Amino acid sequence: MIQRTNIGIFGMVNAGKSTLMNLLTQQITSIVDPTFGTTTDIKVSLMEIHTLGPLKLFDTAGINEKSSLGIKKRDKTIDCLKKCDLVLLVIDPNISFDENFEIINLSQKYDKSLILIFNNFEGKKNPKISHKITYPQISLDLANSNAKDKVINFIIKVYKPIKKQQTLFPHLKKDDIVFLNIPMDEETPEKRLLRPQSFVQEHLLRRFISTYAYRMDLKKARNTDKKISNDEFLRFQKQLKLLKNQNFLKLLITDSQAIDIVHKWTLDKKGKPLIDITTFSIIMANEKNELSTFIKGIEAFKILKENDKILIAEACNHNRIKEDIGTYQIPLKLNNYFGEGKIQIDHAFGRDFATYNLNDYKLIIHCGGCMLDKQSMQARIKDLEESNTPITNYGIILAYLNSKEAFSRVIIPFM
Ligand code: SF4
Repeated sequence: MIQRTNIGIFGMVNAGKSTLMNLLTQQITSIVDPTFGTTTDIKVSLMEIHTLGPLKLFDTAGINEKSSLGIKKRDKTIDCLKKCDLVLLVIDPNISFDENFEIINLSQKYDKSLILIFNNFEGKKNPKISHKITYPQISLDLANSNAKDKVINFIIKVYKPIKKQQTLFPHLKKDDIVFLNIPMDEETPEKRLLRPQSFVQEHLLRRFISTYAYRMDLKKARNTDKKISNDEFLRFQKQLKLLKNQNFLKLLITDSQAIDIVHKWTLDKKGKPLIDITTFSIIMANEKNELSTFIKGIEAFKILKENDKILIAEACNHNRIKEDIGTYQIPLKLNNYFGEGKIQIDHAFGRDFATYNLNDYKLIIHCGGCMLDKQSMQARIKDLEESNTPITNYGIILAYLNSKEAFSRVIIPFM
């Protein structure tokens, strides 16, 4: 998934939002018409602007439509604002400026960059403003043919994206080796690795850090027949020793669901770790600046009591196999930990998440969210913070449910 800057176009009905969308995309992405409330749903367009990089543009419905449909549109518009990095507020000179304060206040509340665009169509002048406005602002007629360059140049001039690419494991150096444990199952898509796996490979290879991809057979590793599990153990140990002998092996990254095996199999006879370990999902959480929030979620987990409710949330509605991690493995481990049925477990898949009353839950356990961009995941976390609902993720909870030692081991590489 390309990391894009999300830019949303907001404002009152008929302020010129769709005109701006079409102007920026240079095509009829949104229907423009004087009919009240023409934009019924959010329109999305992908584009690239030199110096700003890849963008996702959203054209939203006006927030001042009072009908029941208008209220639904408004909710979607506010949800969209939460996922934006930059808010372009298009202002209609025909209406009181005060009407625009809701978007201004929401942008402040959700910490968004904001640019005011006064759409002075048909020679109209800017509306009177009673408050001092310090946000960057530009006045122009969006219907004018030279408006596109003016708007884009203005955005480039005033918008400073806060996007620092973090270095993944800065302590690793050229020619170090990282062991990637990728146990595949029926859910593994054909012809590609999962996004966190390819993300890690790409980032490390760029720095000349070699990756060694290994497929653990989890069914064999967990087999109750000791001979079968021991064969798999020896296979793993052979590869590990081979790399460790070269002294370049610095880290082992595993799929979260294999943490129980990997933790156990990378301890020496005295229980001392043979190598640093972590999981792909913890790397992704760290990449999106969510790791400390998810670690805090474990504190909430520790004080859960009988009848408390947990929501297991998955960001996509993928095809589920029998022993699926979210619907089978984690609930099984939770029931083993607390006792069968002691804790109530609900599930939210894909966009259903927005329909749940988050206050009902003492903890959210979220999937790795590989199908969500950074901004969408942060919007979910912001909603949870507002409702005082703690969150953790699959990688963290699986490590913790395995043992406190496994939990400490997987977070140490980020401390
Ligand atoms: S979004 Fe979540 S549930 Fe869907 S594939 Fe990624 S980690 Fe799994």
